[in-house]
Amino acid sequence: MIYLDNAATSWPKPEIVYQTMDRFLREKGGNPGHGSHSLAEAARQTVDETRMLTARFINAPGIERIVFTLNCTDSINMGLKGFLKPGDHVIISGMEHNAVIHPLSKLIWQGVKATRIPVSGTDGITRAEDIEKAITPMTRMILINHASNVNGLLQPVEEYGQVARRHNLIFMVDAAQSAGHVPIDVQAANIDLLAFSAHKGMLGPPGVGVLYIGPRVDLDTTREGGTGTFSESEDQPEVMPHRFESGTLNTSGIAGFGAGLKFIRETGLERIIAHENMLITMLKKELSKVPGVDLFYTIEESRQLPVLSFNINEHAPGEVGVILDQIFDIKVRTGLHCSPVAHKSLRTFPSGTVRVSPGFFNTVEDMEMTIEAIKKIAIS
Ligand code: PMP
Repeated sequence: MIYLDNAATSWPKPEIVYQTMDRFLREKGGNPGHGSHSLAEAARQTVDETRMLTARFINAPGIERIVFTLNCTDSINMGLKGFLKPGDHVIISGMEHNAVIHPLSKLIWQGVKATRIPVSGTDGITRAEDIEKAITPMTRMILINHASNVNGLLQPVEEYGQVARRHNLIFMVDAAQSAGHVPIDVQAANIDLLAFSAHKGMLGPPGVGVLYIGPRVDLDTTREGGTGTFSESEDQPEVMPHRFESGTLNTSGIAGFGAGLKFIRETGLERIIAHENMLITMLKKELSKVPGVDLFYTIEESRQLPVLSFNINEHAPGEVGVILDQIFDIKVRTGLHCSPVAHKSLRTFPSGTVRVSPGFFNTVEDMEMTIEAIKKIAIS
């Protein structure tokens, strides 16, 4: 079996992730902050360690600025709904995922204004100048997808961050597809809110997300409840990160996420990037030679993350996906990938594409077999 759907969720996970989660539940499974006994304390230490590793990974200015959520979607919802008020204006790109489009659509019904910047290149790149031109006196936030889950395009977020800072706007980044595939430095890139999941490039399990909340953001809560701190008060505590972490955390997931972070650190992010880059470059090069295959990738080589889309002339994407799965045992994703807006920008709406997204555990042989399979479908 060849798994090429790492943009949906990475698989397999590093062995240490499985082992850590198993051990955590057996040996440390208390509720952090909701008790002072040794099992609760062991769980708290695990959560704090993952928080510290996450802060280091994105160069956050303090570990209390890392909030654990359910997933990237949850983090985006918290950032958008905890910040924007009716009348506020937000700028987004033409490559956003429904994790942005759907919560924003609800906010628009409630009176928030939004501008979607048309993409400037055929690969979906958004120019910082176009963002700057769209700023109005009511603009409060720029929210951009760091890397596309359709064609792997890495956007120049550092440039957008400078625009945001110049105009005193909050800059939020959806890093679902970039975290673990490219270095992220929230301070250098002037990022105020960063959202990502543990289960994709971070090689952790599903059920854990991260919201980095920078010191410039005055964010309201969207969920209140028990935090295990300041229990005497009837009001939601102010103290970070607990203010945003009501209810019991996914502790075993956070333990597994911590193991994923350690795996990335020990392996070396550069090594992971180099391997993934080699695989995607090989796919791009070989598939571009196959007659009848229409490829969707980035123009600038350095902006290509390990996600690629294609179509085969006569075949619907879903049909190609079924053939790859059932005849060749190759797992890819087909259709719109929850990103109709990006597909409209890339002119692949409404049928979508076939998406291949290799990961660190894929091999050159996996790519060779995939290329051969696609060639066979294209000539059939
Ligand atoms: N943004 C982008 C660009 C994504 O690709 C995804 C996942 N497909 C998300 C947000 C949402 O991530 P999650 O499903 O982990 O919440």
